[in-house]
Amino acid sequence: MARRKKIYEGKAKILFEGPEPGTLVQYFKDDATAFNAEKRATIEGKGVLNNRMSEHFMTGLNTIGVPTHFIKRLNMREQLIKSVEIIPLEVIVRNVAAGSISKRLGIEEGTPLPRPIVEFSYKDDALGDPLVTEEYIIAFGWASQQDLDDIVALALRVNDFMSGIMYGVGIRLVDFKIEVGRVYDGDYQRLIVADEISPDSCRLWDLKTGEKLDKDVFRRDLGNLADAYTEVANRLGLMPKNVGNGTGPTLVS
Ligand code: UDP
Repeated sequence: MARRKKIYEGKAKILFEGPEPGTLVQYFKDDATAFNAEKRATIEGKGVLNNRMSEHFMTGLNTIGVPTHFIKRLNMREQLIKSVEIIPLEVIVRNVAAGSISKRLGIEEGTPLPRPIVEFSYKDDALGDPLVTEEYIIAFGWASQQDLDDIVALALRVNDFMSGIMYGVGIRLVDFKIEVGRVYDGDYQRLIVADEISPDSCRLWDLKTGEKLDKDVFRRDLGNLADAYTEVANRLGLMPKNVGNGTGPTLVS
């Protein structure tokens, strides 16, 4: 029997009603999907790793003044978040060509881009999340010009923050996707980073070897996805350290 009301179930996460109005509980599943859910698997431990990593990135963003939906982590798989009205866009920032931009424009993967490029896809699984222009977004009322200016500014701040964090642990942030939500303070609306930031939604390459440490490991059958995510979490100092030396309890004087 359900412990509480399920609000929404997506491919990798479930949202439940939160304890206070305006809050939700976000539960991270172990399910992995790719190619619009044509490829699926359950990867033990992925949800725990993504919950912890998303907490780490969102907490850092909140601290430097980039607003996010994150309130606090509740347990291994769940975090308390602000309820937002999701803007139906995937906001993608690219530093290096890879994936769809490489295919679309014939740019070799790994080519640095002249500057960070922000692009938008319309969130619709049935349509395969098609790339859309700002004209489409404004004409169809998904966001206003002011919203778009704010979204681009948010996305570029997330890019600088995440690039720096990753660089510090020997990883290149190739690209990533965020989602943005609206929250209302009375009549006043604000846009905040929502959903998750994790190796499911970023491309992360080892700076020296180019080894892929993100969901491409699953998409392209390059090895064990949980191992790749554990490597990222380890470098970020997020994995619990083994306590003691295995010889039994130590007396504290
Ligand atoms: N991405 C995502 N969800 C999506 C589509 C893309 O998280 O539904 C992320 C993806 O992991 C990558 C970036 O956005 O870090 C750019 O993805 P791209 O457009 O190259 O698409 P892909 O090659 O993954 O189909």
